[in-house]
Amino acid sequence: MAKYINADCRLCRREGAKLFLKGERCTSKKCAMERRPSTPGQHPNSRKKPTGYAIQLREKQKVKRAYGLLEKQFRGYYAEAARMKGKTGDIMLSLLERRLDNVCYRLGLGASRAQARQIVNHGHILVNGKKVNIPSYQVRVGDEISVREKSNKSPLFAAIKDARVIVPKWLEFDSSKLVGKVTVLPAREDIDLTIAEHLIIELYSK
Ligand code: SF4
Repeated sequence: MAKYINADCRLCRREGAKLFLKGERCTSKKCAMERRPSTPGQHPNSRKKPTGYAIQLREKQKVKRAYGLLEKQFRGYYAEAARMKGKTGDIMLSLLERRLDNVCYRLGLGASRAQARQIVNHGHILVNGKKVNIPSYQVRVGDEISVREKSNKSPLFAAIKDARVIVPKWLEFDSSKLVGKVTVLPAREDIDLTIAEHLIIELYSK
């Protein structure tokens, strides 16, 4: 699969928002958005007033990059949401939020979505007792997400047992057992990133 290999912090600076791509660094003073929030490039302030299209494009890129997706994958979420009944923007964000790698990130099993995706890829995660190594797996209400017993003792997860993890209200988490549960589907207000999803819908529905 194609992969973005440039510096993650450039992506935040390009989108003008903290996308939380680098774990602990994102909440420290080392965060590039705290130290140098200007647009990357040689002449960051020489850009013209953005067009309507440019604003829509940036909003789409921001969300796509926050969830670490490629264009085809991201467009697939829009297409699926557009087929479903309800507000396309809300449904699209809910589908993104329900990805297994994102759920692991929300439960604190990975410091960033990228790390959570690696944990899933490496087979450390069980859903309802069965190994699932597909980061895009869509969780459902009642699903139990846990760490494989063999991995449970790994230093990777040892620190999480002692940490006080704040999980969103649509999830439950027992940090002593490293077991999480989906109690309800995520609603629009559960998504903490500032997103104007109507701009993405406008862009894709042209
Ligand atoms: Fe880098 Fe994280 Fe700050 Fe973004 S939020 S600029 S990824 S440290």
